[in-house]
Amino acid sequence: MMTQRARIVASHGKSYIVELPDDRRLSASVRGKKTHFACGDWVEVKVLNAEQAVIEKLLARESLLYRSDLWREKLIAANVTQIVIVTAPVPSCYEELISRCLLAAEAVGIKALIVANKSDLPEFDVLRKLLQPYLALGYSMIELSAKGDIAPLRHALQGEVSALVGQSGMGKSTLVNALLPGQDVRTAEISTALDSGKHTTTHASLYHLPDGGELIDSPGMQEFGLRHLKVDELTRMFPEFRPYLGECRFHNCRHKAEPGCALQAARDQGLVLPQRLSLLQALFDEVSS
Ligand code: GDP
Ligand code: ZN
Repeated sequence: MMTQRARIVASHGKSYIVELPDDRRLSASVRGKKTHFACGDWVEVKVLNAEQAVIEKLLARESLLYRSDLWREKLIAANVTQIVIVTAPVPSCYEELISRCLLAAEAVGIKALIVANKSDLPEFDVLRKLLQPYLALGYSMIELSAKGDIAPLRHALQGEVSALVGQSGMGKSTLVNALLPGQDVRTAEISTALDSGKHTTTHASLYHLPDGGELIDSPGMQEFGLRHLKVDELTRMFPEFRPYLGECRFHNCRHKAEPGCALQAARDQGLVLPQRLSLLQALFDEVSS
């Protein structure tokens, strides 16, 4: 039996849906092996019948994002070219989650785009103020209302494979539904289950956008896993810390309480944000624990 190139367009635990070059979608399983796949992966499959295929082989991956879990990390999305972080002024937006998503993008070497949603609300200026330092770092932002004109976002998604992430309540489902008119994207129930802390399996889907480009959405996903990163890589993922690399007295400085630390000095002089340095310190502990 001949193998065919296919794309994983949905993953749910160890069950997958693959899309063939002729757009047919089949349910697919993995035979025996321990290889793990993610939504967005290119694979070789054997088609068994009109509904089923078997995944035989993983093809080259350009990028890989992990889902963050308290106890371990699972693959969530592959071949993503852009992380889209959905934020809003209400419910209040947790700045550290935004930073963590930006770091996930830096770690893989892909773009990050911040969507400032709910621009119609009077509280919007608060969000603008919160995001301003991240614009200063060079990250892109689009201001919009998911219930209004989303053309600027459509444009930014063209030609990209975008992974959507956001705290609950920021308007991610509203945006996904607006981006995919006529498609029944049921995400609310699963989000609710995740928010209440119930155990759910990893679940992600890939959608083709009408104007070109692809969207990978994983309901309830607020951030990506960073624990697989190496201690030496962490500091470099903060673009504003790069000028200070190698400037500390100790080459293995963790930038916490060490004397002669260039980053602590920069923070004390107001050259880098204290919350970004605290996040780096927290990550050192997470990654090495
Ligand atoms: P999710 O948890 O991120 O998927 O958020 P939802 O899409 O479910 O949206 C949460 C709430 O915010 C819902 O009540 C939406 O109707 C509302 N919402 C989403 N986008 C906007 C917006 O642009 N403006 C306003 N005013 N409300 C919005
Ligand atoms: Zn230091």
